[in-house]
Amino acid sequence: MKEVKLKKSGLVFSDLGLGTNSIGGHNIYPNIDEKVSKEIVKEFVLDGGSFIDTAYFYGLGRSEELIGEVINEMDKRKEVVIATKGSFVIDGSKTTHDNSPEFLIASVHDALERLNTNYIDIFYIHFPDETTPKDVAVNALASLKKQGIIKAIGVSNFSLDQLKEANKNNQVDIVQDRYNLLMQNIDQEYIDYLLENDIGFVPYSPLASGLLTGKYTLQTEISERRRKSVLFSHENYKNNLEKVEVLKSIAKSKEVQTSQVALAYLLAQRFVTAIIPGAKQVEQMLINNKTSDIVLSTQELEVINKTFNITYK
Ligand code: NAP
Repeated sequence: MKEVKLKKSGLVFSDLGLGTNSIGGHNIYPNIDEKVSKEIVKEFVLDGGSFIDTAYFYGLGRSEELIGEVINEMDKRKEVVIATKGSFVIDGSKTTHDNSPEFLIASVHDALERLNTNYIDIFYIHFPDETTPKDVAVNALASLKKQGIIKAIGVSNFSLDQLKEANKNNQVDIVQDRYNLLMQNIDQEYIDYLLENDIGFVPYSPLASGLLTGKYTLQTEISERRRKSVLFSHENYKNNLEKVEVLKSIAKSKEVQTSQVALAYLLAQRFVTAIIPGAKQVEQMLINNKTSDIVLSTQELEVINKTFNITYK
């Protein structure tokens, strides 16, 4: 793994991070085994990983608790950069978002308790709400940054206009949004803004929820949850599988895994700071962690761009 530096905050962490919406994420995936969850986090750190991405929403706090337990048991708090997020308000079956200063400040303090730590490296506003001016929301986080309670400010799922408003005082350190070979939530204008303003970028769902690993075929039985995703719906699914075949052949010629080619492509993009693939098993995480060593040639990158119709620079 390589070390990367988050420009404005100075934080340093591994380019291969760990996505943890399945670590204690009982509200997202059925049948999560917390023993396996903890093992994944532990082995990730032992393998040299120093960037863990979590959120209140993942298990409604459970992901943060499990990560806090492992990191404290291993006595590795100083070595690991922990990013978490808040904005979700869950009221029975109703979900809304709150970016008000009071809510965000309370969310950070609640997360500190769940993670059993006295600082959070990166705190993201998970989703925008409809009413809070984004610079007001970020100012609240800036006051916590000044006190050393958080080290960097992030926003997630923000449109370009919302990001510009949030970054009015040049206080946004990092953005997280969906970006993988099959789905990109941001465009060239967004990327240019990130680069011009020294804002880091972490693409989420880098493996398109597993579809880019090459393990799916037309015969695969798709879970009901996955079938609801536009990626796995009938028409798209067939087209997507055809595109993945191209990744498979590149992987074969390099004697690596298809998932590693999909991840290496993201790491090769100059606007990408680090990646955070999720994993349900230790073996998946260890395979993903080896991606840093894989270099795609200009020709391979061009083939991938053409196949997936990607024109961003
Ligand atoms: P992902 O990283 O695209 O896919 C992860 C899934 O792919 C795993 O759970 C596993 O699922 C499968 N997989 C991973 N590595 C594999 C391998 N080497 N071989 C075969 N299968 C493999 O999707 P994600 O977990 O949704 O996204 C990653 C992270 O991004 C999350 O954990 C979370 O931290 C973050 N995220 C943030 C937001 C946001 O709103 N900010 C939204 C979504 C996600 P199966 O075993 O079930 O196939």
